[in-house]
Amino acid sequence: MTAVKDKAVCIGKRNYSETSQIVTLFSRGQGKIRALAKGSRRERGRFGGGIDVLAEGEILFVPPQGEGTLAILTEFDLQESFTNLRQDLPALPCAEYMSYLLGEFTEEFDPYEKLYVAFVSALKRLGPQCRSELVLLDFELTLLREIGLSPVWDRCSSCGGPLETDAQYLYFSSGSGGMLCRDCEPAIVEKRPVDPRVLQVLQHPETAENTPRKTVFDAHELLSYHQQELAGKQAAVMKFVNQILRKQVLSV
Ligand SMILES: [Zn+2]
Repeated sequence: MTAVKDKAVCIGKRNYSETSQIVTLFSRGQGKIRALAKGSRRERGRFGGGIDVLAEGEILFVPPQGEGTLAILTEFDLQESFTNLRQDLPALPCAEYMSYLLGEFTEEFDPYEKLYVAFVSALKRLGPQCRSELVLLDFELTLLREIGLSPVWDRCSSCGGPLETDAQYLYFSSGSGGMLCRDCEPAIVEKRPVDPRVLQVLQHPETAENTPRKTVFDAHELLSYHQQELAGKQAAVMKFVNQILRKQVLSV
């Protein structure tokens, strides 16, 4: 079988044996790849002592030979280790949170080039002086758009009717796939109230940069709720990221 060349970021790894690791990679051309990196834990191996999570490299791998089998990673040539992620507290958990989302919401060998570009760009932006909530919001909107699960923000996701314009609060339902109008809302149990200013950011994300941090955080937090409902579970990393970012945006 011919080896395939690509570019990828390591989004997860675990030790497989004394000398090898199983890595989860998010690649530019092939999407998510689970691969066995034979000898990657050896000091002087081809992988230079191991492949770090959140490192980007040029990879060479042999695709899986059957259902349920792993790809074989033969090379990981480190290109970028994003040292900016280690210079600021929220940056690393935010990057781990994005890795979690990619692992959860993409399938192996289902390529999403735009998502790869958005992921790498987000990894570069995170760090000191960065509005992390803005980076996460951008990334989450791209993710949901690319996987076809973008919520409906501009009308009722249940009946298609218009949303109230003068309400103090509107409602969002993950199960309905977006906002709810006043007529549909009472019948739906799974829902969250949304401040109209938060909805405004979600409808026009290009305005987020000039929007107060707390409002942008709330928009991100609503997307994290949607992702939690879609996944059917709350990941510990999501809870942690939301705790530290909430504290940060409230302190400025
Ligand atoms: Zn409706």
